Amino acid sequence: MFILERILQKQGFVLADGATGTNYFQLGLETGYPPELWSLEKPELVAGLHDRFIAAGSDVILTNTFGGTSYRLKLHQAEDQVRALNIAAAKLARRSANQHLEATGRDIVVAGSMGPTGELFTPLGMLTHDEAVAAFTEQAEALAEGGVDMLWIETISSFDEVYAALEAAHKTGLPVAATMTFDTAGKSMMGVDPADFANQISKKGVVAVGANCGIGPAELMHSVMAMPPADGVMRIAKGNCGIPEYVEGKIHYHGTPELMAKYAVLARDAGVQIIGGCCGTSPQHIQAMRHALDQPREADAAIIPVDEARLETVLGKPWKHVPEQPSSDAAPRRRRRK
Ligand SMILES: [Zn+2]
Repeated sequence: MFILERILQKQGFVLADGATGTNYFQLGLETGYPPELWSLEKPELVAGLHDRFIAAGSDVILTNTFGGTSYRLKLHQAEDQVRALNIAAAKLARRSANQHLEATGRDIVVAGSMGPTGELFTPLGMLTHDEAVAAFTEQAEALAEGGVDMLWIETISSFDEVYAALEAAHKTGLPVAATMTFDTAGKSMMGVDPADFANQISKKGVVAVGANCGIGPAELMHSVMAMPPADGVMRIAKGNCGIPEYVEGKIHYHGTPELMAKYAVLARDAGVQIIGGCCGTSPQHIQAMRHALDQPREADAAIIPVDEARLETVLGKPWKHVPEQPSSDAAPRRRRRK
């Protein structure tokens, strides 16, 4: 049985990790610098964040490879390092997971993160399906070589891109999960609806499908709740830690550990199997989520429906806050969130 299913059977939920980029900022990553380079330049910091998420209770850790395709690395003249960076990142996460397993007997799933290329597909842009598949294949094969348990396609906004990434990921034979970001009044930036996304992608041989990043936990849950469950496919909620706002030139996330704990329990009660955080989510937030999920469930929790009213009571009204676009960094082609 695949480790994810084993963990789910044992606990009733699977807890993923939090943010990569926004936690590196606390460790000195400068805005605009590609975090992927840290896997070779500062491996102790990359491994250190994995260790902190594992210690906080994450069952799944994502590799530091969100921008690890040649298209993203080209922006930093590092497109010739795709293989080296993806292998290095996978090995760092693998080592943290293995050390934890040896020390405690608890299995940790290492998921190879595959984020968007940042390019628009034809006919809107220049990227062809074959070019995208080739770029994702280079990344996926290196992640597999580095020892990941599964591949995790995330922060995608178009069907074109998720299909290309899936085609590449499936070549490795590893289990694959895919999440899209719904941040534009209930749809992805490219106009995809969460239910359509889940229905289409659930038929593509994935082990899990869901939503990540975007606005806040209320919006994330609103999107995930619109995804009809599919047999044999887990659902993923990996929401930002509150609403991103620009404060004194920096992006700030207002979510407290308590808010993220409430979001985690609501997600579990809504039938979401894999729960985690995205931008702004620190190991402290994950620890609060773990603590809340580990509490015995109230007997009636399973029969209280998770509907829009309960969502609003627990997390606030979704789509009420439309964050200010901080700068041209938020534009589709150069978005660097995660
Ligand atoms: Zn994010």
